[in-house]
Amino acid sequence: MADSVIATAKTVDEVREHVRAWRKEGLTVGLVPTMGFLHEGHKSLITRAVAENDRVVVSDFVNPTQFGPTEDLESYPRDFDRDCKLCADAGAALVFHPEPSDMYAPDACTFVDMTALTHELCGLTRPIHFRGVMTVCSKLFNIVQPDRVYYGQKDAQQLSVIRRMVRDLNFPITVVGCPIIREDDGLAKSSRNTYLSEEERKAALCLSRAVFKGQEMVKAGERKAAPVLDAMKQIIEAEPLAKIDYVKMVDFENIVQIEQIEDRPILCAMAVYIGKTRLIDNFIFDPSTPDGTLA
Ligand code: AMP
Repeated sequence: MADSVIATAKTVDEVREHVRAWRKEGLTVGLVPTMGFLHEGHKSLITRAVAENDRVVVSDFVNPTQFGPTEDLESYPRDFDRDCKLCADAGAALVFHPEPSDMYAPDACTFVDMTALTHELCGLTRPIHFRGVMTVCSKLFNIVQPDRVYYGQKDAQQLSVIRRMVRDLNFPITVVGCPIIREDDGLAKSSRNTYLSEEERKAALCLSRAVFKGQEMVKAGERKAAPVLDAMKQIIEAEPLAKIDYVKMVDFENIVQIEQIEDRPILCAMAVYIGKTRLIDNFIFDPSTPDGTLA
């Protein structure tokens, strides 16, 4: 039985103390960055990290710098006690739960930014989002100094951006991408699903239905983007409560729109408003593997 009590740290110094002790023992460290309100999707990342590292740190921090002024920073769901239990059950060693003031000095003025990859897809609607993500993840990498970090393909653009940042800035860290975990009916698990009313929850299934349709067409051999995107949009547009932000096919490594699948991994991604809630979903297709999953 997993022990459901887990060490927690609020400050950077406390985290460093834990990690220093582990490193003295020669142990490896994995990091799972999250914004909390954890679910089975997060748990799958933690479980994978526990399998591949001696100690796992989960960061649980609603990072203000990745939210735009009109976004849901204040209303973002939080339940730290439940998060700790999930982390303990999954076998993590430490939950890092700082206050914004523990992470950002009042006069902090240094940010990590990228000249490509972040101006497409979610970057168009959320112009400062990836700058905030890259900044907080760089800080977490410097604080925890993990061997491996774990990200979900649910946020596929984020995964691609973090891979590029780790390469470009020479972080000595392996980035591990993990598959999307879904509800039984197909909806991708998300902390933001709690915003949905009963009616909206049903309507939200148009995202996964569109993803499955697009994936099926590509797996069956369709290589042009347009027919795949048209079929996906048709499914979403048939749902009265849904409003498309974007549905696009891009090269997964460069996040540049493509018209045709060639020999490189592609990302087919969408953001859709269901009422006021903005949900994302996607599939990645890698033509170099037998089943199309990312190599
Ligand atoms: P968040 O707390 O939403 O910032 O997510 C933290 C991490 O969990 C990110 O790497 C997400 O991609 C990942 N994640 C969130 N939802 C899922 C899911 N349904 N399946 C797999 N990974 C997920």
